[in-house]
Amino acid sequence: MTINANGSALPVNGSTKVSHSDGIPIELVATPAPEKQTNVKTLPPSFYASFISAESRARKPNSIRGLFPLEKVPGVISLLAGKPNPETFPISSLQITVRAPPEDGTSSQVEKTLDISGSRMAAGLQYGSTTGYEPLVAWWEGLQTRTHGRTKGEGWQVSMGSGSQDFLYKSFHALVNPGDYVLVESPVYSGVLPILESLRAQIIPVDTDSSGIKSSSLKHILENWPALRPFPKFLYTVPYGGNPTGLTTSTERRREVLALAQKYNFLILEDDPYYFLYYGKALRPPSYFALEGELEEVGRVLRFDSLSKILSAGIRIGFASGPKPILDAMDLHTASANLQVSSLTQVITHTVLESYGYEGFVKHTEMVSEFYRQRRDIFEEAMHRQLGGLAEWSTPEAGMFFWFKLLLNNTSSQTIEEDSEELIQSKAFENGVLALPGTSFLPTGGKTAYVRASFSLVDPNDIEEALKRLREVVLKARGE
Ligand code: PMP
Repeated sequence: MTINANGSALPVNGSTKVSHSDGIPIELVATPAPEKQTNVKTLPPSFYASFISAESRARKPNSIRGLFPLEKVPGVISLLAGKPNPETFPISSLQITVRAPPEDGTSSQVEKTLDISGSRMAAGLQYGSTTGYEPLVAWWEGLQTRTHGRTKGEGWQVSMGSGSQDFLYKSFHALVNPGDYVLVESPVYSGVLPILESLRAQIIPVDTDSSGIKSSSLKHILENWPALRPFPKFLYTVPYGGNPTGLTTSTERRREVLALAQKYNFLILEDDPYYFLYYGKALRPPSYFALEGELEEVGRVLRFDSLSKILSAGIRIGFASGPKPILDAMDLHTASANLQVSSLTQVITHTVLESYGYEGFVKHTEMVSEFYRQRRDIFEEAMHRQLGGLAEWSTPEAGMFFWFKLLLNNTSSQTIEEDSEELIQSKAFENGVLALPGTSFLPTGGKTAYVRASFSLVDPNDIEEALKRLREVVLKARGE
């Protein structure tokens, strides 16, 4: 017996009608997975029916975009799209200079000039596919297979968004009806909260600790779920170098979360922009997307990747990898909201990635993560000197953040409320240091003594001074 996202039991064979939170009854058919060449069973398209939001089901395809592939049929003369004629465009080629990863046996990067012209330039200047520039999508699919061991065509596909934020927004719109329950790790990436709040999702926080999301808390929540309440549709989590915690969820926890997702029938939205910023290569836990590939049935994990932290944040390239019915719903949103990601940035990105090749790309990401590891070490040494005894933290293993708790209570003084907001927003800022109070990351509000400090951009020579300024205000708050 399976429980659907609406909370009612779904028979393993046969079909049932369920009423969604928007009251639209839809047919759920528990059909066996379509016959495939491989041993991997994928959840059938009908499985997703109870997950897709009413907004998404009401969205109609863009009638012109849907016909674009027909323009490529040999012999067809197209009078279809309102595509501008590139002969009228002023830019005819681009030259970009990239710092390529070191060649074998060397340690320094090599500068290379890449030309973008001809048909590649034409593609960059023209409208393109809603799901992304095909060579770039194919490149990323290949990377997913190499990185996460998932074979193309086995229950997942890739689409492109303008950064992962674009797809977070679209995935939430694809799934959430007002009043739907969603699980989010706490503290959570603050960028998702306004989206979930505007969709009027009921946000259920799941605790985290130094090993990432606490599967025991998740289990407790689900085991004690009120009988008549619809079960949550998904869990949102940042598994590597979490924002704001900088922490990484252990493999054991990930397996437990996946098992709970199967038992209680929710999806896992794995937002992973810091995947390649994982410092400890040997101990890297597998992604949820990879772990799901070991299961008998795949199709619950929707993975988000971003090039923002490893190639450029301004280029605005993100990828979603996951089940077709959800990606299709997100692509329909793209087709009506912004048509596609910029063709030009996709072509530039593909040119760079192609010149790197998969090996070169991995080398490049290792250089990036090593850069941040060194910055983390410099920051942590200064933390010990300036905030030792005044703050508590776990050392981040990925990403670009320290998440630390200010010890605002001095045993000799009266108890001060555990709240860093006023101290960070006013006093620390007045003393010349800017950080984020932890309250920004609490899914359902409240107070916290935690603070997020980013070490990605600060000049290493300024770190000691920044933390000294923070120390001064903490000592003052403690009455010392
Ligand atoms: N998710 C998380 C956890 C992030 O930290 C960020 C960026 N701060 C994003 C998503 C958005 O990234 P992108 O630039 O790819 O839109």
